[in-house]
Amino acid sequence: MLIFGTRRTARQLAVLMLTCPQGHAAAHTVTGLVTRFTLFFVPTFRVRTRHVVQCTLCGLSGDVSKERAQELVTQAAST
Ligand SMILES: [Zn+2]
Repeated sequence: MLIFGTRRTARQLAVLMLTCPQGHAAAHTVTGLVTRFTLFFVPTFRVRTRHVVQCTLCGLSGDVSKERAQELVTQAAST
């Protein structure tokens, strides 16, 4: 029998001050979510990668492009 599925791992890439769509000027986290295909519970290849920005004040989160996430990481590193 073949046992397969997916496993998702989250990695926090940066924390920086941004203004969220609700108008909060608060710390936001930039997280990379990687979904991997698993075979017999062993992660194999990457299925998809998402980048999410979340407001730490209200918890509102939204997907951003890889390029935008990279921009935010660079911005966080330079402040
Ligand atoms: Zn907010």
